[in-house]
Amino acid sequence: MTPHGRKCATIWARLSAGRERVDAMHIKTITAGPIETNAFVVGDEASNEAIIIDAPPDSADRVLDAIRDDGYSVRMLVLTHSHFDHVIDAARIKQEAGAPLAIHEDAMVQLRQVIQDGQAPYSVDDIGPDQYLNEGDEIAVGTLRFKVMHTPGHAPGQISLYEEQEQVMFGGDTLFPGGYGRADWPGSSMGETRETMRKLLELPDSVTVYPGHGLPAQIGNERSWMTEFVDKGSG
Ligand SMILES: [Zn+2]
Ligand SMILES: [Zn+2]
Repeated sequence: MTPHGRKCATIWARLSAGRERVDAMHIKTITAGPIETNAFVVGDEASNEAIIIDAPPDSADRVLDAIRDDGYSVRMLVLTHSHFDHVIDAARIKQEAGAPLAIHEDAMVQLRQVIQDGQAPYSVDDIGPDQYLNEGDEIAVGTLRFKVMHTPGHAPGQISLYEEQEQVMFGGDTLFPGGYGRADWPGSSMGETRETMRKLLELPDSVTVYPGHGLPAQIGNERSWMTEFVDKGSG
């Protein structure tokens, strides 16, 4: 081993032994369906465990390929909320990834509606959840810790997953660069949207939010309009 190699090995051993992590989180974004919805495969490089977030229409093949390519064992499939564009492929992904499906209980009314009505040209198999997630729950994926935040407004029972050490949040349709998720649909609430923005303002500027559509947002870049929006509601 060269001196350089030895040095690297020593540093690696030290990092592995301690609680420090270097690039432990690996995020793969898969965009699919008629309104370009993002699914995320989030892996922990140290343990090869992963979590899948959302299941857009026509995403299953690519999500499952990503899992197989990286040899991940999937801990959970989480649905951020139950609008059709986030849940259509859930049954197949759940079955083939062999992972339990989790959702917030308040999202069940809309989920049952989507299963019952379908959304032409798609139909949804029954995806009775294996587990409900609530504010404050923690999901362990290898060394990663995802904290569940209840962030309704755009949809009932919408949740976000926050990994504090990595400063990353997966928010579904909660927050986008320059705006919040639409609050004028059945089940949406402007009041709850405001409360959710108030909650997100407590996050540090450095947190990157991966939304259900489009590119990530950074809390620091969104803080001024969010503050204005929240203040307007309390005035
Ligand atoms: Zn939505
Ligand atoms: Zn959406």
